[in-house]
Amino acid sequence: MLKTNSLTYRYSDGPMLGFPDLECTSGSQWLILGRSGSGKSTLLQLLAGLRKPTGGQVQVGQVELTALTSTEQDAYRGKNIGMVYQQSHFLQALTILENLRIARRMAGMTPDEARYLMLLERLGIAHKRDRYPRQLSQGEQQRAAIARALVCKPTLILADEPTAALDDHNTHEVVRLLQEQATESGATLLIVTHDNRLKDEFSNRVVLD
Ligand code: ADP
Ligand code: MG
Repeated sequence: MLKTNSLTYRYSDGPMLGFPDLECTSGSQWLILGRSGSGKSTLLQLLAGLRKPTGGQVQVGQVELTALTSTEQDAYRGKNIGMVYQQSHFLQALTILENLRIARRMAGMTPDEARYLMLLERLGIAHKRDRYPRQLSQGEQQRAAIARALVCKPTLILADEPTAALDDHNTHEVVRLLQEQATESGATLLIVTHDNRLKDEFSNRVVLD
């Protein structure tokens, strides 16, 4: 369901970054490991259609992402891809619940109040739904970021170092939640990280160098 072929990317002032070919079947769960600077965030941005590769292709389901216009990519991403960033990008003036609502509206999907509550409950933060992002602890914000990534029922979940700032307990919890939610919605899950604590939690692993 996710396939890459000879992907490369070059920032204007940098060397050519090359990426191993990926072939992830629908619903599979992957860990992509690499040191800082190895291209993990760049790879996720290529997979999400947030950057155009210098060379190669990304295919998501039946769609050749790299062949779409950027407007088409935006629409595709909104509907199909859930991104979890290392640092959560919440709208600070809105509550957690309002952030989930707006994420769904921006993807052009009809509201689904029951889904927001279900996700927040599953993630153990339903009681924080009317709080503002900065009123949540880091672990709670990370869980809220997962909820937001899932509001549109993505078929592909991409997580960029979701555990970098978390202690061992929350790290394990966040990984378990991502895996559980991906399994439950039949989504393909890709986590990129330099966090070696995650190594044993995934049988599908790719190392970037
Ligand atoms: P990682 O997420 O694994 O730390 P990145 O994908 O962020 O790696 O970066 C890969 C390489 O590209 C690094 O050498 C980094 O310095 C460079 N790089 C990342 N973002 C930019 C940018 N916006 N402009 C120029 N170079 C960048
Ligand atoms: Mg990074």
